[in-house]
Amino acid sequence: MVLRTGEQYLEAISHRSKAEIFVMGKEVDDVTKNPFLKPSVMAFKATYDAAWDEDSKDLGRAWSQFLNEEVNRFTHIHRSPEDLAAKVKLLRKISHKVGACFQRCVGFDALNTLYITTSIMAEKGRKDYHQRFVEYLTHVQKEDIALAGAMTDAKGVRTLKPHEQPHPDVYVKVNQVTKDGIYVSGAKANITGVAASEEIIVLPTRAMTKEDKDYAVAFAIPLDTEGVKIVVGRQLNDARRFEGGDIDGLPYFYNHEGLVIFDNVFVPMDRVFMLGDWEFSGTLVEIFSAYHRQGYGGCKAGLADVIIGSASNLARQNGVEKASHIQDKLTEAVFLTETMYAAGIAASLNAVKVGDAWWVNPMHANVTKHLVTRFPSEITKITTDIAGGMLGTAPSEWDLKNPKLRGYIEKYMQGMMDYSAEDRLRMTRLLENTSLGVAFMIESVHGAGSPAAQRIMFSRLYDFNYAEEVAKRLAGIKSDVKFVKKPEPWRESDTEKVAKS
Ligand SMILES: Cc1cc2nc3c(=O)[nH]c(=O)nc-3n(C[C@H](O)[C@H](O)[C@H](O)COP(=O)(O)OP(=O)(O)OC[C@H]3O[C@@H](n4cnc5c(N)ncnc54)[C@H](O)[C@@H]3O)c2cc1C
Repeated sequence: MVLRTGEQYLEAISHRSKAEIFVMGKEVDDVTKNPFLKPSVMAFKATYDAAWDEDSKDLGRAWSQFLNEEVNRFTHIHRSPEDLAAKVKLLRKISHKVGACFQRCVGFDALNTLYITTSIMAEKGRKDYHQRFVEYLTHVQKEDIALAGAMTDAKGVRTLKPHEQPHPDVYVKVNQVTKDGIYVSGAKANITGVAASEEIIVLPTRAMTKEDKDYAVAFAIPLDTEGVKIVVGRQLNDARRFEGGDIDGLPYFYNHEGLVIFDNVFVPMDRVFMLGDWEFSGTLVEIFSAYHRQGYGGCKAGLADVIIGSASNLARQNGVEKASHIQDKLTEAVFLTETMYAAGIAASLNAVKVGDAWWVNPMHANVTKHLVTRFPSEITKITTDIAGGMLGTAPSEWDLKNPKLRGYIEKYMQGMMDYSAEDRLRMTRLLENTSLGVAFMIESVHGAGSPAAQRIMFSRLYDFNYAEEVAKRLAGIKSDVKFVKKPEPWRESDTEKVAKS
């Protein structure tokens, strides 16, 4: 049995000797005990627990075609549209257990991306990478490795290409190639769950040109590698975690992101999956971003369920749950949530087969993420309205615990008698952390690419000429329309074209 338990995962990430991990300027020894990172470690652990919990193990496990046994779904290569739908359903489900981003999807999507990209490269004569990658994948599945996915470079001046930048390594760059491996420098930004991972998969972040071939590099290394430095990012209200409370101080789960610095890091050649092959970097980015955009239909819908549930309960505690405008607003939040989810499921069930793997439907995946750039802030507006101003002004748990104040707080913070003031504070903090936090408000906009990136894909994939010819024919103007079998006026994605050529 290669499936790990959550406890085995905790054991695996508790000892690091080479990588340096910093939280608010201080180096961290054991991420499983650090108060800042612990909520994040526990959220990551939920991806292991999901493969064992009775209610989720059917979704949390998948059959590996490489090992011929069950593996954790987060290490699986999709073999059918149903596999892709199972991913979206699993993400929604785990969100219910943690109310946060559980941070294992980027690595999951990076595995599937490299599987397809290296097989396309093999078809075009670059044969080594695919075999190497499948060996790596087998290792990941056997050990049930916790992966982070690092695509987004520091990027410096956004309008300049990597080789034009004032700092030549704001995009991760190959410094030296030896027969044993490569040396890389640079930084990847905003990397989810990285301090709670065991290995990092690094991918190029944009389509490269010939001049940028030193930046066209993909590889995987253990996090605990000489020269790797992680600077964990700050978040709203993060200092509360150091207070040791169990209401305000994030007693449950959360996610973290980090700046990952590679200071002339050695990568052995058997872990290099792209080296100077700039022609394939655009395809890789297209494949990854579509996979990642599809997933948001699951995890953000799941987080929205927690947010809707919190607001609904606060309405009940305040005695307004039957008011028609409250019911109407909650119904609107449900509509927004189910629309994101439906798009993620459509992106899965209308999937595209590339080689022997299944890629998501690129149009629907981009639609999913574009909805996610808009709807979470709408949902937060609704739930902020329902929760009342206390969402931003509630007393702290330390006021509740102060004997001089407790009686007052218990009286004045209570709503309906079925719930205590402490219940109201707890639910208010949950709603604050989920609806106003990084995962719902900021990751929804930028994760897997800012909104403009999806709109570029819409205009590439939608066949305006076909739509125009269809319209011209109906208007009685001379038209060259040649009706095709597929119902949608879509062009093929670059990935499909490259895979077929
Ligand atoms: C919570 C969170 C988690 C994340 N997790 C990961 C992760 O695990 N792994 C990973 O690889 N990445 C991750 N990301 C990074 C994410 O993919 C990027 O934030 C996203 O691609 C946007 O890049 P950026 O942050 O550099 O913003 P920018 O690219 O600087 O975008 C800012 C604005 O500038 C615009 N812009 C950018 N370039 C141009 C240009 N050339 N011309 C015109 N306009 C431009 C954008 O459209 C946007 O409006 C995460 C991000 C967040 C917020």
